[in-house]
Amino acid sequence: QRIGVPREIFPGEKRVATVPDVVEKLIKLGFSVAVEAGAGDGANFSDDAYRAAGAEVLPDAAALWTASDIVLKVRPPSSDEVALMREGGTLIGFVWPAQNPELMAQLTAKRATVLAIDCLPRTLSRAQKMDALTSTAGVSGYRAVIEAANAFGRYFNGQITAAGKVPPAKVFIAGAGVAGLAAIGTAANLGAIVRANDTRAEVADQVKSLGGEFVKVDYEEDGSGGGGYAKVMSEGFQAAQRQMYASQAKDADIIITTALIPGKPAPKLITAEMVQSMKPGSVIVDMAAEQGGNCELTVPGEAVVRHGVTIIGYTDLPSRLAKQSSTLYANNLLRLTEELCKAKDGIAVVNMEDDAIRGLTVTRDGVITWPAPPLKAP
Ligand code: NAD
Repeated sequence: QRIGVPREIFPGEKRVATVPDVVEKLIKLGFSVAVEAGAGDGANFSDDAYRAAGAEVLPDAAALWTASDIVLKVRPPSSDEVALMREGGTLIGFVWPAQNPELMAQLTAKRATVLAIDCLPRTLSRAQKMDALTSTAGVSGYRAVIEAANAFGRYFNGQITAAGKVPPAKVFIAGAGVAGLAAIGTAANLGAIVRANDTRAEVADQVKSLGGEFVKVDYEEDGSGGGGYAKVMSEGFQAAQRQMYASQAKDADIIITTALIPGKPAPKLITAEMVQSMKPGSVIVDMAAEQGGNCELTVPGEAVVRHGVTIIGYTDLPSRLAKQSSTLYANNLLRLTEELCKAKDGIAVVNMEDDAIRGLTVTRDGVITWPAPPLKAP
């Protein structure tokens, strides 16, 4: 079968679904690989690099989609892209079926088989190598710190120099899931004093192991809502949390917020008053901007200054480190392709008996198979 990789068309998207090193490995699995001209430009992979790895470079999207049995993508396809897709073709990428019912209808009309990498059962340990949500969140958490450092007018690390003593920056991280933990590690490596909070008490040890201090909310309630995700907290907890966050905001130079609750708007954790209480020149990076933001003053997609504080609401953090996120994503998809092609004969087989594959298969030959039944207990 032929695997095809189109250029991503979403405005500002710089990532690409495969990279030259991975092309070679896909070919070793028995596939042929086609890449649309310019597909890797945003991530600094040239057409020549793909050619050298053994891919055929096709001139445009129409040529690419119609020639491909299996299309690898980053963003969910547009309706124009689905129109170009082969009848009965296979698509692998981010799909977000709950948010995209029309897309799901178009894909089933094409009798497509769709593997939505966002639907991977993440708690299966053998699925970790395919977990693109984790690799993407890791890149985002790193980049959030870099954006903060870029907007901040001082060093992160403390220094004693002939020109004077510099105190270390104080960084507060709200939400210590995958992205928050990556941010903690990055900020600690830069030498900042890092504190973090999460509603799930189980993350405290992970925060410490990365060089951060876990700050508890003074209220007995755990936020674990199942599957490693958070739940909406009680009014009483939220009031106690606001009080703690208000005191952290006064003290912190940088706040990075990552708090999300599946299927719900992002919890509002940083109020306008808290922003006002921060020192001038402080920075907030709101990684929940796309889901409504953890800070009341965030403008999604933009960096704004409010009360002397720079509030960064960029929604394209992975794309701002396109080479890294594309490489990790391409590896996640390679691992998935290996699972689909155990015979190494260049034919992908969707085995619905396999828990990981079943979980991410959202349509099969035009029939909706989403949501997958819950995983059997181990
Ligand atoms: P996420 O992006 O949904 O949420 C980010 C963090 O925000 C979470 O840690 C959550 O607890 C926290 N949060 C939510 N509401 C909050 C509030 N009001 N105040 C403070 N913090 C709040 O989560 P994620 O990063 O995708 O990870 C969720 C969990 O899944 C993590 O424990 C992660 O380790 C786990 N996970 C497990 C596997 C695996 O078992 N293989 C793979 C990936 C992720």
